[in-house]
Amino acid sequence: MTGQAASARQIVLASGNPGKLAELSVLLSPLGWQVRAQSEFHLEEADEPHPTFIENALAKARHASFHTGLPALADDSGLCVDALGGLPGVRSARFAPLSDASRPQQDAANNALLLQQLGDAFSRAARFVSVIVALRHAADPEPLIAQGELIGQIGRAPLGQGGFGYDPLFVLSDGRTLAQCDAQEKNRISHRAQAMRRLLPLLQDVWGRSAAV
Ligand code: IMP
Repeated sequence: MTGQAASARQIVLASGNPGKLAELSVLLSPLGWQVRAQSEFHLEEADEPHPTFIENALAKARHASFHTGLPALADDSGLCVDALGGLPGVRSARFAPLSDASRPQQDAANNALLLQQLGDAFSRAARFVSVIVALRHAADPEPLIAQGELIGQIGRAPLGQGGFGYDPLFVLSDGRTLAQCDAQEKNRISHRAQAMRRLLPLLQDVWGRSAAV
């Protein structure tokens, strides 16, 4: 290990979702920090009992930072569908009530339930929301917080192989679904990318001045 690599700042990503981890690692790469997944520390996923993205993101970041002793970053995200009063929202990950399902099975069941609940509704407007929270330590009284949104429509059937979650149903303004975009394109336009673009300068400026990290 070089001296530079040995002294690189570390940050733990508070997620067990491989799709999110891949996207967040790329989005954080401009910082040159050592990004570690919470699975490296054998951490269970934190509970997400709260009704808002921001509270759940804070809970996840706090949990990861407390158990690893490292600065932590968490994204809480989801799909908000206007015709469903904002659902599945913070319940996006487990919208369909399955137990012991693999992630692909859960995603497929979520998409099927969403299509069933929307039926042939004419209004299919939706948005992906991502709230990202970064903490220097578990008791950090100054969390850095950023939010991003991506506007779209819910399609009538899944299309495309890329991404994860609801991507095959999320239709962009050009008619393609998010699952039909390649990873680089999704990482330019997504709700998570927009939140991270707002967070990066804060991480550099605010944490750059902090001796605690
Ligand atoms: P969280 O782990 O509670 O933040 O759950 C996020 C859930 O929202 C995921 O499991 C997906 O179901 C959905 N979701 C969030 N971001 C995306 C995305 O970029 N594409 C597709 N689905 C997403």
